[in-house]
Amino acid sequence: MTTPRPAPWYRELHWQILVGMALGVGAGAVGGPAFAERVEWLGILFVRLLKMVIVPLVVTSIVSGVAAVGGGRSLGRLFGKTLGYYVLSSALAILVGLAAVNAIRPGVGAEIAGAGGGPVPEIQTPSSLSELLLGMVPVNVVDAAAKPDMLAVILFCILFGAAVAGLPERPRETLQAFFESAFQAMMALTSGIIRLAPIGVFALIARVVGTSGFESFRALGLYMLTIALGLSVHLFLVLPLLLLLLGRIDPRIHFRNMVEPLAMAFSTASSAATLPVTLRAVEERVGVSNRVSSFVLPMGATINMDGTALYECAGVLFIAQVLGVDLSASQQLVVVLTALLASIGAAAVPSAGLVIIFLVLESVNLRGPEVDAIVGAMLAIDRPLDMFRTSVNVFSDSCGAAIIARSEGEKGVDRELRSVAPSSGVQA
Ligand code: ASP
Repeated sequence: MTTPRPAPWYRELHWQILVGMALGVGAGAVGGPAFAERVEWLGILFVRLLKMVIVPLVVTSIVSGVAAVGGGRSLGRLFGKTLGYYVLSSALAILVGLAAVNAIRPGVGAEIAGAGGGPVPEIQTPSSLSELLLGMVPVNVVDAAAKPDMLAVILFCILFGAAVAGLPERPRETLQAFFESAFQAMMALTSGIIRLAPIGVFALIARVVGTSGFESFRALGLYMLTIALGLSVHLFLVLPLLLLLLGRIDPRIHFRNMVEPLAMAFSTASSAATLPVTLRAVEERVGVSNRVSSFVLPMGATINMDGTALYECAGVLFIAQVLGVDLSASQQLVVVLTALLASIGAAAVPSAGLVIIFLVLESVNLRGPEVDAIVGAMLAIDRPLDMFRTSVNVFSDSCGAAIIARSEGEKGVDRELRSVAPSSGVQA
């Protein structure tokens, strides 16, 4: 009797992606800016392909998912659990950041002001909770999808899905079948695009390493180490504990099932661009139902950002330390709360976390040219930190989906390592 031999490791997509990453680091370091410029378009092409599928994927995923949940009580329950998880995990992340900066004190005695860095990019972010809430309700849903303004699109899709669930049998079944089929088609398209990930990741990483090199990272070494330490504690200790305690899930299996989205988040530094990959991995590898993943993941990519929350808090305390400002306990509490709101408001795109730090700085009256200069210096070395915090953002979303699926009685979550065959999902 012959058992089918497992595919060799190099045929597995996640290995191919990791190899692409390693080659990207090597090629960027050796080839420098010239090489970075030459391969830049490949990385941009890959990210554009991912972005191309985001809106239709999110729309079909949420509408089919919510319509399957049904309206009323069960939708409310799922919503409550999801928000509960977002707040819990982000708050824990902020506390880790707070502890790391207070213990290591990387800003004390650091000479940074005037240390260069580029102009801070402009990213529109809401400046208050009411503005955030108002911005979630689209005046024109087509316009919201065209921008894309993901929170507004998500809200509309949840309401529309709930309306579908409340229809009489015939129109409900027709619409459910339509959105379900459209979702499958979008997943098939996504799977095809993800096959290109090794090349895309290679180009993205080569560009980062080729343009910035490693030199500029030395000046702010201790600050970077502190953030990296905080993010590592949250990623490798806090979130696995949540998986174990709340979901009775073996974190090692979850990590291995999530290799592809983690690599993608790391190389794109964008939770939004990673969303198609996250959705696919959480459904097909982790084994979460579409009903739960379509609810938790798109919303999570937009508002649940543990890594960013940790970064906001730690970054502001670092700036205060550099300026020699001693923040009182109550001021630190204000930083903690605003960091939570800021992470909710931050767009899921590269550098959003650094830009929105001004909002948190304002909350404790830290402003002026010196502050701008420090943020400018932080910007110069932000990319690797952004890559790391985006990975934490994405991983936390996936933990939330797995934990909530378990609490909804789903049995197959993270029970085994599921490898997705290269052609999976691409069939018609
Ligand atoms: N780049 C992050 C993300 O997309 C947001 C941030 O800059 O912190 O998740």
